[in-house]
Amino acid sequence: MLDITEAGTQKRLAVYLVRDLDAVPGLGRLGPDALAVSEQELADILGAAGKRQLKTLLREQGVIAGIGNAYSDEILHAARLSPYAPADSLTPQQVAELHTAIRQILTEAAERARSADLGKIKAEKRAGLRVHNRTGEPCDVCVTTIAQVRLADSAFQYCPTCQTGGKPLADRRMSRLLK
Ligand SMILES: [Zn+2]
Repeated sequence: MLDITEAGTQKRLAVYLVRDLDAVPGLGRLGPDALAVSEQELADILGAAGKRQLKTLLREQGVIAGIGNAYSDEILHAARLSPYAPADSLTPQQVAELHTAIRQILTEAAERARSADLGKIKAEKRAGLRVHNRTGEPCDVCVTTIAQVRLADSAFQYCPTCQTGGKPLADRRMSRLLK
């Protein structure tokens, strides 16, 4: 395991040989594993996160570990939640649905990866995605056209009917251009 930190003009390089990754400074900041988090723990995490947006929060490895860009899109779609919903605004019912969606999406993904031929894992992953990278395609659930929000260095996709009450989400770059 290789760890490089760059602070100011000083470059530091550290190499660790450890049996337990928790022993490596910096990695201890990982949040609880997404598949191990209980509904109550998830409720606590969301409550503590205040107005932070769900999409950002779910991808933060220091908050919950193991969810990337693609699966955060899938989880929010399955839970019928807006990517921009403030973390502390969820009802107990919505927290329960988010908890179920995290387990369902990640478990399905792991099963697909296990059963896929080596070398076909990427195609298999894409086949299992319902909204991520499917801009312009019909939603599996309600046939609404999947929409996309472009951010400075990334993009995400969602279904306006399933997730945002039919409202398109503001595209930050676009709204900056319009000002
Ligand atoms: Zn939909």
